[in-house]
Amino acid sequence: MPEGDTIFRTARSLGRALAGKPVTGFRSTYPRLTRFHDDTPLTGQLIERVESRGKWLLIHFSGGATLVTHMLMNGSWHIYRHGQPWQKPRFDMRIVLENADYIAVGFKVPVAEMHTAQSLARDRRIPGSTVDVLSSAFDVEEAEHRLVAHPGEETGDVLLHQDVLAGVGNVFKSEICFITGIHPFARVSALAPEQVKALVATARRLVGANVLEDSGNTIVTYGGRQRRTTNSSDPRQSLWVYGRYGEPCRRCGHPIDRRLQGPDARVTFWCAVCQPMPEQPR
Ligand SMILES: [Zn+2]
Repeated sequence: MPEGDTIFRTARSLGRALAGKPVTGFRSTYPRLTRFHDDTPLTGQLIERVESRGKWLLIHFSGGATLVTHMLMNGSWHIYRHGQPWQKPRFDMRIVLENADYIAVGFKVPVAEMHTAQSLARDRRIPGSTVDVLSSAFDVEEAEHRLVAHPGEETGDVLLHQDVLAGVGNVFKSEICFITGIHPFARVSALAPEQVKALVATARRLVGANVLEDSGNTIVTYGGRQRRTTNSSDPRQSLWVYGRYGEPCRRCGHPIDRRLQGPDARVTFWCAVCQPMPEQPR
C-alpha cells in the first residue's frame, strides 16, 4: 500500500500538471462518475488544486465538486503528454482527466467518489488536513491527544490509525518506533509524555523528509552508508529496521526482530536492545 509520502508526491505532480487549467476531457469506467459528469460537466471547469490527506487524493474542481480517490494496494495515477504511450494496459484505466497539455490517468484506482464540501467534511474515512502529518495545517498538540486516547493499544498499531496520524504507513511505523527507541508492542499507556511528543515529531519529520524534491521513490530514514548516487529500490539499503529481520541493528548489532501486529496483522520490525519493552505501565 502506498504511504502518505507517495500520495503526497502524486498529488504534487498532478497539481503541477492540472491545477489552474481548464479540463478538456473526462472519462471513467465508473458509472457514478460518468453520471455526475453528464449532470454537471467537469469539462470547462478549472482544477483548483490537488491535495493529499493521508492516503486519500483529492482533486478540487472550480464548480465546487471534489473527486476523491484512494489507491488501496494497486491503484496509481500517471501523467502523460498527449500522444505519449501509457505505461499500463488500457483495461486498467478507471479515470482520465485531460487538459490542453496533459492526460492524467487513474489506473486500477479502486475507490473514486465525487464529493461536495459538505459530504467531504462529513465523511469520517477521509482525514481532515489538521490530522495529516504532511499538511501545513497539522496540529502537533491535537495529534498527541489523539495518540494517548488509545491507552490500551500497542504503540505501533496506533501509529497506523489514519485518524490519529494520517500519512504514516507500515514502513514508517517500524522506523518511527526505532528512532524514538520505543518498543512497537508497548502499550500507549506505558509511554512517558516526552515519548508521545517524540513519536509525533518523528512521524512528521520522517514522512516530511521523504517528500523533498530529490527524495525519489524509495523511503529513506537511514542515510548512513547510502551513496547518494545509487537510488536503490532495496529497502534494506535505506531503512533502520524495516525489512531487516535477522540482520544486525545499525546501532547496537543485535539481530532485528519481526512480528505481525494489530488486527490487520501488519509486519513490524524492531531491535529488542535499542527499543526495550517498558517493565510496567506508568
Ligand atoms: Zn539495536
